[in-house]
Amino acid sequence: MLSHDIGDWLSQRAWVEIDLAALSHNVQQVASLLSSPTQLMAVVKADAYGHGAITVAQTVLESGATWLGVATVPEGIELREAGIKAPILILGATHTKEQIHAIAHWKLQPTLISPKQAHIFSDTLKAIKCRCPLPVHVKFDTGMSRLGPSWQEAAEFVQLVRQFPNLHIASIYSHLATAENRDQTVMQQQQQRFESAIAQIKAMGIQPPLLHLANSAATLTENALHYDMVRVGLAIYGLYPAAHLHSRISLKPVLQLKARVTQVKSIAPGTGVSYGHRFIAGRELRLAVVGIGYADGVPRHLSQKMQVLIRGNRVSQIGAITMDQMMLDVSAIPDIQEGEVVTLIGQQGSEQISAVDWANQLNTISWEILCGFKHRLPRVAF
Ligand SMILES: *Cc1c(COP(=O)(O)O)cnc(C)c1O
Repeated sequence: MLSHDIGDWLSQRAWVEIDLAALSHNVQQVASLLSSPTQLMAVVKADAYGHGAITVAQTVLESGATWLGVATVPEGIELREAGIKAPILILGATHTKEQIHAIAHWKLQPTLISPKQAHIFSDTLKAIKCRCPLPVHVKFDTGMSRLGPSWQEAAEFVQLVRQFPNLHIASIYSHLATAENRDQTVMQQQQQRFESAIAQIKAMGIQPPLLHLANSAATLTENALHYDMVRVGLAIYGLYPAAHLHSRISLKPVLQLKARVTQVKSIAPGTGVSYGHRFIAGRELRLAVVGIGYADGVPRHLSQKMQVLIRGNRVSQIGAITMDQMMLDVSAIPDIQEGEVVTLIGQQGSEQISAVDWANQLNTISWEILCGFKHRLPRVAF
């Protein structure tokens, strides 16, 4: 859900704000690392990492991306229904007849990962008399141990797929497991495996189509990993995959998470706050209730650990975060008013709280934080 209606947005208790200028800036920054003719695929799976797939897709395509990557068929259909014409690669596995019909109908491009699946695609396309060939993308495994045959089997698999007249190999790709690590040993091994499979394919007299290997971290690490296309998710949303990758380009976070104060009150010393009374006021304090909770995607694990920004100040959250609401200790700014905006992720003045901070507190990764914001939060894009 994306609301451009400011009136509607002003009445919201909580929302996600999307900075399209920052998104465009990030795409241009990433593109500045690429040498022609390397293309930029913007990865917009999982509703563009929680940012809203349609608006993000439109903006990145205007800013220099030429391909879109999604995880599932419905994610691809959503973009096509919005009128997006760019090539869309489905990064996940697809097998069923229904999926194949939808792929052909909506001109989506599947990833092929096994001989069995390639047969199903070819047979199904024949049965529906598809105006083919369908562009397909051969994926092989160089060390992620996820989709695709192993690198040793890649050339044989490519040869098999080429035998189907209704399938056309548009690209060959693999995925890196450790690109954000400082230690590049595993990444280099994966790249060598990628190169050796491509060499075998060439040795069979096959001119390889587009080749691609790099995610955000690899794109920021080294140009030798770029090949014909890079598949960039996290970096276009303005976050760095790792602290040591900050130096090459300057990214701006695209997403801010905001909510409103819904009530302000004073509580006496000894008063318990929220479920379980995990917080007991040690003195009289000023408390603000905010209309956002774990059902919006603020992890309950952050209870009593997180801070938020109000009027440019850092304020501590107190007591258990509840499903739809949380409480703050606003004693330092006692004149806080109901309706005031609280920034949970984002910037106010010189203070900034990032999804990376949450990820560090929760011992997870920023990707998971971004994908965690629920659909009941309107996405407001500027
Ligand atoms: C999600 C995904 C990406 C993007 O990864 P980032 O680290 O967010 O850049 C690239 N390639 C594949 C196959 C993916 O699944």
